[in-house]
Amino acid sequence: MMPPKAGYILAFVTPLILLAFSSFFLWVQTLNRNTWSSLALACGFFLYAVGMALHLPRWPQVLAPAIVISAVFYTAGCLALAEGILLRARQRFPRPVGLLLVILVPGAMYYYGYVEDSLAYRVCILNTALSFIFMVTTCKIWALRQGRPADRVLLCLLVLLSVHFVPRIIVTLMLAPWAENVPANLPIMVDAVFWITLQPFVGLTGAMLALSLLANAILDMRDELTAGQDMDPLTRLLNRRGFERKAASHFKPAARRPVSLILCDIDHFKSINDTFGHPAGDRVLAEFGALLRNSLRDTDILARVGGEEFIIMLPDEHREAALQVAERTRRHIEWSRPGDLPIGWRITASFGVVARLPGESWPELYARVDRLLYLAKQRGRNCCVTLHDQEQEQAPLPTLMQA
Ligand code: GH3
Ligand code: MG
Ligand code: MG
Repeated sequence: MMPPKAGYILAFVTPLILLAFSSFFLWVQTLNRNTWSSLALACGFFLYAVGMALHLPRWPQVLAPAIVISAVFYTAGCLALAEGILLRARQRFPRPVGLLLVILVPGAMYYYGYVEDSLAYRVCILNTALSFIFMVTTCKIWALRQGRPADRVLLCLLVLLSVHFVPRIIVTLMLAPWAENVPANLPIMVDAVFWITLQPFVGLTGAMLALSLLANAILDMRDELTAGQDMDPLTRLLNRRGFERKAASHFKPAARRPVSLILCDIDHFKSINDTFGHPAGDRVLAEFGALLRNSLRDTDILARVGGEEFIIMLPDEHREAALQVAERTRRHIEWSRPGDLPIGWRITASFGVVARLPGESWPELYARVDRLLYLAKQRGRNCCVTLHDQEQEQAPLPTLMQA
């Protein structure tokens, strides 16, 4: 058994640490308002700390109903923690299940506290409920096992935390007054082993889980910052910087795999702005971007690299296949009316299509495709232009595909 004084001091330490974590997450929430995850975690740690604080010894008798109230705080705290963890993975804890737990667990605490007094049942029910919350959470984010190392650490800690309730339940049952053939000194021995081994383990795992959640929250913020710098806010596609970062590996001098590039520019876009205004032009651009995205494979890299200029990289595709994609997209655009333009108004676009030559660098490739786009404009627009090979590019007439 713990020395009474040390046990008394320890009882204060954990709630205080939990409150410290709660304030950290509150601070993180003020830095990142894109998600409520950190706020949910802050609430979770706070509620759990209050639940623990209600059990602190030597409270005045007025806190006698602490059994039920602390169960509400423990359950709600763990549900808030679960929600915070799940929100990061764009998931939610099942609402009806959460609601049921918040009602049933304190209800059971009341029954086994005031109707039929059984500490063993109370401990078992509470620990089973909390274990269940963390197990559901673990299952829902199981896919994170393939995520980055910080995600995997978080998942491991969550598994540990979910299963640590099991020995708690077993110890409680062993100590229960109805247990048969219990040697007189067993409860004291088990209690001592329980305190010495399980409590520091729980404290350590809990603290590591909180630190891992903090680390993940900071990494998420870093990712969002990088993604923001790489993204075009109007079309929500990559911008030039994002494209160059994402496509960089395909343009290394040593890269051997085929790769094709399509550069596309909306025809006479200025007249859309001049006729319908800049906001209408913005709507056309946003829908044009979505239209391009929907006509491509997930592996193709699409970006807005200029005002009304878009680039598409097709990994593992030769020029002929890229030309087909460009031509199909061109026809699709011709028949669509992005931005709900009035009847009689259509959008068309011109395309340059190239395949990377061995050893060709990104600036060289871009310069080549830009020249072809220029040729498409010269050819009357609403067409795709490509060249069969480098030599033919020197020739005056490119291969022209006209609708
Ligand atoms: P062309 O067929 O030769 O490509 O003609 P164009 O009118 O499309 O090309 P030009 O370069 O003359 O004009 C491009 C226009 O695109 C001018 C600019 O105001 C507009 N633009 C660029 N960025 C944006 C944007 O973010 N929103 C809107 N609404 N317009 C933009
Ligand atoms: Mg244009
Ligand atoms: Mg342009």
